[in-house]
Amino acid sequence: MQSNQAATRIKMLTEMGIGPVWLPRYADAIQEAIEVSVTADPSIDHIETATQSVIAEAIVAPVGNMQVPEAVLSDETASAWFDQSPVSDVLPVSSRVVALRSVSDMSWDELEASVASCRACGLCEGRQKTVFGVGARTANWLFVGEGPGYNENIQGEPFVGAAGQLLDNMLLSLGVRRGERTYIANVVKCRPSNQEGKDRPPSADEIASCLPYLERQIALIQPQVIVALGKTAAIALTGFDPETPVTQLRNKVHRVAGIPMVATYHPAYLLRKPLEKSKAWQDLCLAQRTFDGTSV
Ligand code: SF4
Repeated sequence: MQSNQAATRIKMLTEMGIGPVWLPRYADAIQEAIEVSVTADPSIDHIETATQSVIAEAIVAPVGNMQVPEAVLSDETASAWFDQSPVSDVLPVSSRVVALRSVSDMSWDELEASVASCRACGLCEGRQKTVFGVGARTANWLFVGEGPGYNENIQGEPFVGAAGQLLDNMLLSLGVRRGERTYIANVVKCRPSNQEGKDRPPSADEIASCLPYLERQIALIQPQVIVALGKTAAIALTGFDPETPVTQLRNKVHRVAGIPMVATYHPAYLLRKPLEKSKAWQDLCLAQRTFDGTSV
């Protein structure tokens, strides 16, 4: 019975042209296969059958050009898929093959609404406000931090307080201001905190859950340069091994979806280690040269 309800919901979302959910990147091919099958025969029973069939096949064989990792999309996924609400429940990472509309297709407004109601990872439980991002949607510069902290969670805006003040000064050194030709976002949109209620870095699973939102923001903004603020952001954007030393992330221009990306220190770190500000200055100079087209 639950599976029929889920299938009905999917059909309704499809007909309304919305599907407020997220997909990991490898799920695009699965979604496409489901859509092709459902388009051919859009009855509810068929949606359920087609989806279960595609997911089951994906576990053992490539879908499109992608081989779905068995560890990610396990046997339990197919049954769990219809036993949980695809919209309102917190699903494990392996169960996020849900929507008939991918984050990668969303408009700005759809994306913002999707983040505001997102329950794709456990960080939704402790949040007061999601922190979508702030700035010009046609920004030249995109600054990416790790995730909201205590104050950001309350205010719903990234980089407020002392770290935000320092970031604003970093922007001024590049000749820009918050909201003018700049966009500021985080890797995760909800505050990670530990059991004592203190800020903590997001886990790998939390980053994987939230990254499609940032990737869509990058695709919509199409900035000229991305500045990763801190190791977590740089690792998330580049996909490098989390153990990659900072020295391999800084002092070079990386590419993120074809866009140049420069890594520097997180402003909160610079507040704790002010002597590192000279290195951050070097990073910003590299970012400026990259922006000007003179970095090589
Ligand atoms: S951190 Fe991201 S994926 Fe997790 S609940 Fe918040 S918006 Fe959703």
